[in-house]
Parts: sequence; structure tokens; C-alpha cells
Amino acid sequence: MSRESHEGQPELDADNPLTLPGFFDALAEGELLGGICADCGEVLLPPRPACYNCGSRSIDVESRPRIGYIYTYTEVHTPPPALEDDAPYTIAIVELESGGRLTGRVESPYEVVEIGDRVELRVRAPTEGERLLALEHESGWPIHVFERIE
Ligand SMILES: [Zn+2]
Repeated sequence: MSRESHEGQPELDADNPLTLPGFFDALAEGELLGGICADCGEVLLPPRPACYNCGSRSIDVESRPRIGYIYTYTEVHTPPPALEDDAPYTIAIVELESGGRLTGRVESPYEVVEIGDRVELRVRAPTEGERLLALEHESGWPIHVFERIE
């Protein structure tokens, strides 16, 4: 990864919302940040320094609505060892109302989840097992889960 900074671009340090630590810091405060490509309109979730559609580096970071619907989902039977006690659990790709997709766990059993269910993104502190899974610099990061809403 290059560490040189581009003219007119903010440094990509951990406070920058274009980095994962910056994204998770905002998420811990209940704010979902998305990057919007100024050139093609692609929504980048989480925000990235460059657009994965057109390669542009003109990315605006905005707070995004936390409501979406289940685009697809599956059940995890063989999770990483630290999450064995939680299995089976449901994970889904959620299409957010404002565009962009985010993968995460759904707080509902697989049997009751359906494609198209409306969900809201919630944020909670990691459990002990989730902390064990995390890399050291991630250990304080919040866990995002989707809760089905009517
Ligand atoms: Zn773009």
C-alpha cells in the first residue's frame, strides 16, 4: 500500500472516514458512513479512498440511512472457533435504502428470514468471542447486526 499522499487529498490516517478505523469509530457513535463517488455516483460501503466502479478519487463521505432490505442471506453452520457457541446464525447482504450493500449478521433465525425483509442496522459492543477473533487494532470496534423491522 502506498503511503504517499496526493495533492489536495487528506492523509489516510485512522481518523479519516475513508479508512476502516474511521468508519468503525463513526459506527460506534451510531452513524453509518458511506462514500459517494463524485464522478459516477457509486455508493461505497464502507467508504474507500478510490471508487471501485470508475477508479475516481473524488469521494464524498456522507452519513447514510441505516434502513435497508435483505438482498440475499444464508445460514452459517461452521463459524470460526470463537463463534462456535453462536452457530447456526444468519448472515445477509443488505441493500440499503440509499444504495450500497453491506454484509452482516441478522439477529433472526434463518427459518424466519425472507428476501425483501426490511432491516435496520444496529451497533453493539463485541462479545468476548468476537474480541478473540479480532485483530489487535480491531478489538474495540463495534459489531454491526441487522434487526428485522416491520
Ligand atoms: Zn466512480
